[in-house]
Amino acid sequence: MQEKFDIIIVGGGPIGIACGLEAKKQGLTYLIIEKGPIVNSLFNYPINMQFFSSSEKLEIDEIPFISKEAKPKRNEALEYYRRIVTSNQLNIHLFEKVLQVKKEVDEFWVQTDKSEYRGKHIIVATGFYDLPNKINVPGEKLPKVSHYYKDPHFYASQKLAIVGASNSAIDAALECWRKGAEVTLIIRGPEVGQRVKYWVRPDIINRIKEGSIKAYYNSIIKEIKDTEIIINTPEGDLNLQNDFVLALTGYMPNFEFLEQLGIELSDDDKKLPKYNPDTMETNVEGLFLAGVICGGMETHKWFIENSRIHAPIIINSIVEKMQLVQKS
Ligand SMILES: Cc1cc2nc3c(=O)[nH]c(=O)nc-3n(C[C@H](O)[C@H](O)[C@H](O)COP(=O)(O)OP(=O)(O)OC[C@H]3O[C@@H](n4cnc5c(N)ncnc54)[C@H](O)[C@@H]3O)c2cc1C
Repeated sequence: MQEKFDIIIVGGGPIGIACGLEAKKQGLTYLIIEKGPIVNSLFNYPINMQFFSSSEKLEIDEIPFISKEAKPKRNEALEYYRRIVTSNQLNIHLFEKVLQVKKEVDEFWVQTDKSEYRGKHIIVATGFYDLPNKINVPGEKLPKVSHYYKDPHFYASQKLAIVGASNSAIDAALECWRKGAEVTLIIRGPEVGQRVKYWVRPDIINRIKEGSIKAYYNSIIKEIKDTEIIINTPEGDLNLQNDFVLALTGYMPNFEFLEQLGIELSDDDKKLPKYNPDTMETNVEGLFLAGVICGGMETHKWFIENSRIHAPIIINSIVEKMQLVQKS
């Protein structure tokens, strides 16, 4: 017998959790299914990562988030969201991956790698941190290359090339240089990204100016070999000695998963999923989108800050739908 819920929420990130909390408050039956630990994306962020948002902007359901500094660190956010899940006894299945969702008449069948469920409504809150934007060069699969940065200690006394010029790349460059790595930045455009945190941008620009961190602008990496990399710069190709490469060129949502669910995507580069912003319901009736997944390839558009509102919007819309069904 398959368990049946009013709502099945795919993804236990901050926004999936906010949806679960809201569903619980409204007395609906719900299940959050998360393929990793609680707030898996945040768990996989760099260990010393500091949010650009201040803690009150990351709060869900107005539950106070107290942090040591105005902008919380990763560990404080893990504590905050973990306590919300445990103290509210949210119904969440961890380390269980949703493989398929199929609409069958007026409900959905959900298959995971552990079980099967039925849901009257589905909320997809799967974020974008699982799939890195590849740089597509020979050598990208070498073990010395990573698309995720974790801990600066690992790179001490090593020649580290970092590809990218946005927050993740710049934070990693500064942190690793401060822990003794020899850092080279390879930047496709003419400057450090304009969206880099306003208090970090002058720091990196000054480190580059003084020569502590080497930056190649208007440059791309062409090939990664065991002990060197080849980069193309405005002055021509250069061979650089190299121990490790961090390709921090952003991440993208799992579009295949969205398409498999029947969600339409815009046919331009942005691949924006189709949904009604007043209800967050997609072109598939009963299937909703929440959180940063809504931005398609525009992964800088939605944050926890501005997408936490999706939770009450969706749950209110589901409650209204259920009331209409009861009346008819
Ligand atoms: C380095 C970094 C720093 C950021 N800093 C900030 C900040 O300061 N302020 C801010 O507001 N935002 C910030 N963001 C953006 C945003 O807040 C995060 O991306 C946030 O995690 C989005 O929440 P979410 O719940 O929408 O998605 P996520 O937190 O990514 O949650 C999605 C969850 O779905 C799970 N999942 C995926 N597929 C499946 C599946 N098939 N089955 C089951 N589970 C699945 C994943 O494991 C994940 O836990 C930052 C992002 C990054 C990458």
